[in-house]
Amino acid sequence: MAMDIAVSLRPMEILLVEDDPDDAFLVQEMLTEVETSSFQLTHVGRLRDALEKLDDDNFDVVLLDLTLPDSNGLETFTQARAAASTTAIVVMTGIEDEDVAHQALRQGAQDYLIKGKSDGSVLGRAIRFAIDRRQADDHRSRNAHYDELTRVPNRVLFHDRLRRATARAERRNSMVGVLAIDLDYFKDVNDTLGYEIGNQLLKVVAKRLKKCLREVDTVARWGGDEFAIIVEDLSRAEDTALIAQKILDVIDQPFRIEQHEALLTASIGIAVYPDNAAAELLNDAGTAMYLAKENGRNGYQFFTPEMQNKAARRATVESYLYRALKCDEFELHYQPLIELQSERIVGVEALLRWQQSEIGSVSPSEFIPLAEKTGLIIPIGEWVLRSACAQCQAWHKAGLPPLKIAVNVSTRQIRQRNFAEVVSDALSDSGLDPGYLEIEITESMIMEHTGAVSKTLETLRSMGVKISLNDFGTGHSSLRHLLQLPIDTLKIDQSFLHDVDTNPTNAALSTAIISLCHALGKKAVAGGIETQEQLDFLRKQDLEVVQGFFSSRPLPASTLERCVREGVVFPYSDKASSLNQHAK
Ligand code: C2E
Ligand code: MG
Repeated sequence: MAMDIAVSLRPMEILLVEDDPDDAFLVQEMLTEVETSSFQLTHVGRLRDALEKLDDDNFDVVLLDLTLPDSNGLETFTQARAAASTTAIVVMTGIEDEDVAHQALRQGAQDYLIKGKSDGSVLGRAIRFAIDRRQADDHRSRNAHYDELTRVPNRVLFHDRLRRATARAERRNSMVGVLAIDLDYFKDVNDTLGYEIGNQLLKVVAKRLKKCLREVDTVARWGGDEFAIIVEDLSRAEDTALIAQKILDVIDQPFRIEQHEALLTASIGIAVYPDNAAAELLNDAGTAMYLAKENGRNGYQFFTPEMQNKAARRATVESYLYRALKCDEFELHYQPLIELQSERIVGVEALLRWQQSEIGSVSPSEFIPLAEKTGLIIPIGEWVLRSACAQCQAWHKAGLPPLKIAVNVSTRQIRQRNFAEVVSDALSDSGLDPGYLEIEITESMIMEHTGAVSKTLETLRSMGVKISLNDFGTGHSSLRHLLQLPIDTLKIDQSFLHDVDTNPTNAALSTAIISLCHALGKKAVAGGIETQEQLDFLRKQDLEVVQGFFSSRPLPASTLERCVREGVVFPYSDKASSLNQHAK
């Protein structure tokens, strides 16, 4: 193979660690007698210098004296071995001690030669053996140290390079940046275009990443769609931000694989040595990356100590989340949807509540993303759907005015191939008429997963289920595209309605959004209504339905039922207020 030829033509790199000039001279003489390919000898007299050299260069063989000015006996070998885990080390010493020899060989010394008793031929044999071993190892190590698919370093080599990089940075007083990179929604590419295209895409990603870096830096594949990068010789931590931005930009360029085009973004976490501890760099970068994802993807985040607390909290919540369903810790609360014209409750939005015995109540904004990440959202979401449909049907059966029920679903749920079936089972098992169920999706969900998701939405629609778009106006989606989707209701995001009575921009925006909904024949719902002023404004816009703390917080099923039965009407009455006190 071309690679092996290149390897064998390269001169042997030998590091001689010997403090005695006469002995060093003798070894050099003996080396000239060895009939082997050319070699390049580096000579140092102290262990500290040897360790430094081993950090910087890749030697083929180390000829190591055990008695040095700064280290003695087996300790010398142990330290050299740790610094050069893959390099052959031949001990050449005056220490004629069976026990030391035995220990050194056990710890992986190639050979143990006694000074004055070994001639050129013995040294030659040891070196030739090292060459053979190197050739076999080179081949093996390519497989052991490089990712099979992308041919960039794997985790093993990454760790080795990172250890060396931080040691060098400490000596040179420079900085090392570690970037943890995760592609956003890569799984969708695999799902829609197939693994083969997915693999080719990863290869192109690796190439693009390499182009963002200098020769001395390292891109490694961490597994799946995760990559990690080491950036060396930094003088300022902020320089890593420039690299991160460069990476985001190159990943953002469309990928053309065969006849397919794929669009990707990435989330990046950054940790910098010595600001962050060497041993924690990768963990810290990973923690920051997770936050970058949470903050909307396609961005980067530097690690901060507060993130550590967040990460610890997340780990605790996640560990309890696994048991939450089994321990029956979830409950649904229902927030009234009020029709402005009749001032009656016409529906409810089911909102998940989690009361954990050890850590208390955990809000959905905290645990839903974790459930999404771990995949637990699939069983939890199914539980929500089933419980919501069953509750709604129970109200209908109990003779309450027919309320409709809105259920939030998350990205991972709607991407499930059998999602429509899950909904259909929940409906048929509860006996609820599909027309009373509304599935709430978000704009980002449909923008990032267009094909499969719109098909699922069509199926749900054909079953009679309604679709509501939760955060209308907050995404960056093309309006034309958005409106081609099968959506019945647009829920205007509460951010537009903030201070709508005093903020002319928000007033103009909400007016425009509401008339757009009407022009398109969609139903408009305003969420997050907290004040009388907001309500007065919306009445003037002929808005149909509102939801918010002003009318009612989300209520437990029994409170909601009493509210409806006792005809608590909008706006807020004392009665509703007293009923609401029981609600969270
Ligand atoms: P969302 O779908 O936008 O739900 C509305 C959120 O706004 C709820 O928060 C609700 O309590 C809150 N809210 C309602 N009125 C007001 C108001 O006047 N002012 C303010 N400041 N907030 C108001 P909650 O219950 O904490 O839920 C947060 C998010 O968690 C929901 O946002 C939804 O995305 C997600 N979520 C909740 N339950 C579920 C569920 O069963 N499944 C899924 N996939 N997601 C859920
Ligand atoms: Mg919602």
